[in-house]
Amino acid sequence: MTDVALCFAQHDLRLVLLAVLVCLVGAAASVQLFHCIRSADGYSRAGWVMLAAVATGTMVWATHFVAMMAYRASVPVVLDPMQTLSSLLVAIGMAAPGLALAASARRGAGIMGGGVIGGAIALMHYLGMSAYHVDGIVTWTWPVVALSVLLSVGLSAAAFARARQAGRAGALRTMSLLALGVAAMHITVIRLGDGLSLPTMNALAVATAVASLIIVGCAAISALIDGHTKGESYRRLRRMALYDGLTDLPNRMSFNEELDRRFNRKGGHLCMAVVMMDLSRFKVVNDTYGHLAGDQLLMALAARMTATLGPNECISRLGGDEFAAVISYDLAEELTDFLDRLRAIFDAPFVFDRFTASIGTNIGVALAVRDGWDADALLAKADLAMYRAKSIHSSEPCFYDAQMDDAVRARRELVVDMRRALDKGAFELHFQVQASTETGEIKGYEALVRWNHPLRGMVPPAEFIPLAEESGEVVPLSIWILRQACFEAALWPNRYPVSVNLSPKHLSDPRLVMTVRSALEDSGLSPTRLVLELTESAIIHDRRFALEQLHALKAMGVSIVLDDFGVGYSSIDVLRSFPFDCIKLDASFVAELEYDDQAISILRSVTALGGLLRMPVLAEGIERPAQLAIVAREGCASVQGFLVGRPSRTLADPQEVRRTMAIGATPVVVDFRQQAATPNAA
Ligand code: C2E
Ligand code: CA
Ligand code: CA
Repeated sequence: MTDVALCFAQHDLRLVLLAVLVCLVGAAASVQLFHCIRSADGYSRAGWVMLAAVATGTMVWATHFVAMMAYRASVPVVLDPMQTLSSLLVAIGMAAPGLALAASARRGAGIMGGGVIGGAIALMHYLGMSAYHVDGIVTWTWPVVALSVLLSVGLSAAAFARARQAGRAGALRTMSLLALGVAAMHITVIRLGDGLSLPTMNALAVATAVASLIIVGCAAISALIDGHTKGESYRRLRRMALYDGLTDLPNRMSFNEELDRRFNRKGGHLCMAVVMMDLSRFKVVNDTYGHLAGDQLLMALAARMTATLGPNECISRLGGDEFAAVISYDLAEELTDFLDRLRAIFDAPFVFDRFTASIGTNIGVALAVRDGWDADALLAKADLAMYRAKSIHSSEPCFYDAQMDDAVRARRELVVDMRRALDKGAFELHFQVQASTETGEIKGYEALVRWNHPLRGMVPPAEFIPLAEESGEVVPLSIWILRQACFEAALWPNRYPVSVNLSPKHLSDPRLVMTVRSALEDSGLSPTRLVLELTESAIIHDRRFALEQLHALKAMGVSIVLDDFGVGYSSIDVLRSFPFDCIKLDASFVAELEYDDQAISILRSVTALGGLLRMPVLAEGIERPAQLAIVAREGCASVQGFLVGRPSRTLADPQEVRRTMAIGATPVVVDFRQQAATPNAA
């Protein structure tokens, strides 16, 4: 006989509590797994549906089973194992489509899916009931059965109707409604007999509860792990998006956001300044010691930067060796102090196991709102100011002013003019003589390009060559210079060699060897009369390829000279890497010789090194007889400079040159004023 009652007197309360526990834990796990289904797709979505269905079905089944065991019946009862098992499978099998449906994005899917799950609960329950074979007559109170089914379907539908809403409260509501949906089935109970002994029933109930809690717990743990992993990946992705991976400083994107925030902040500080910094000599470290060393240096620099920051100050790495900072302040002294601290970062060299690097920076500053009303404008102005600091080689911070815009415009115009000048043939070559210190004879000429600008007059190469390098115009210009030098030299009455400066960009041009070959063939100049001058920076750039090109040129019979030696990072490594035909000692270096004993010692080492490597040394920028005398005495094989001859369209007079060079042969060199009086006497 079936009876409707919630008759606690006939129940083992401990088992009832256990059933409630299983139901609540299971419902919580179901909700959690349901959210995993929603955030996954493809195979992993199907996997989560299966896991959630197992957890939900097991929860429903175990709750039912333990609750039934809690009932103390007076008639014998036998449990049909197959039917019990199939009720579990039905619960899982039906919960799966229900959960999948509830998680889908379709309208009303939550209610429908929830309804299916409710149906699964009801079906499982009555299948489970039929597994109890009771000694006696069983009658069903159909209105109650119908009510229980309705309640279960309704509550589950309500549970999943708004289950998609995030938040703890939403999850709690879904969980409670689902648990109630399961509990609703137990308004119908059955009187059971004692076919199974009481201890056996208890043991069975506890075992079922524990086993189901383990299953449900495992599913819940996997949902937790998944949630944690997703949270972790999200945090990592966010960090990657906003911070520089190498230095851990904010990147360009987050710096721009920071500037926007400061622009939009009401109240706070009166003033704001944006500072742009570009490292000097960083590239050399990178090129000389490798990218790992460059990275190491950037990290150490970032650490110093971070350590120096105060409140309201922020520093970011915009990329490469470019940094930007912002400070909000009230008094001008605060900005001055900030800039002083930024400069002080570079005071001490960076010392590492493998190398020591002294780098500097150029600093540009723009002030809000005087120089710009938004982040982009202010950054652009600070950039211009930084560019100015760089072009005048100043380590002092440079503040933006409106003239800088004019300068940029002028540079842009110059680039356009340069393109036109190349088409119109407005460039010409001047030649500067090089002479032997030993014999006083002319050794050759260096071709130096000149630009006769229609409005600006003679534009010095120091102004337009770097501009050409930047704008990509240098290779066509360099090709013109090379061909022009070959054609002119081929017509010279004496067979002097001609030196042509090779820009770093041109050295990395794969067509260089072909260009040189065709210039020689077309002009008829012998390769032995062509000398190519290049600086260390040109080789360091892409060392392997540069050396390949140089070997190919040398194989053609062309001579290769290392220009501007003594400035920058003159490393012995570069000298060792290629058999240069000559080393050109930089003019800035020569200028020190008369006043600085150390400069003479260095000169001596360079000529000694040249001797060892069988590379003669040419001293550039010889303007005074004393300089000529010193370099001649210290073993420089040849010289070039205004003293011997200025760059000119016409070639030098050999007699004149020999006369000037005789000064260098004067054995006693003490006082330059004395020397200046001697040339004609010599
Ligand atoms: P550089 O290759 O070191 O050329 C030597 C520079 O020193 C030339 O300046 C020359 O006029 C100058 N000079 C020569 N003797 C003296 C002297 O006694 N005292 C002083 N103060 N200067 C002296 P210029 O022609 O203005 O060229 C400057 C730089 O521009 C060159 O330095 C070179 O780097 C570049 N350049 C010039 N012509 C070319 C060219 O045809 N192609 C390339 N790629 N670069 C060029
Ligand atoms: Ca040169
Ligand atoms: Ca030079």
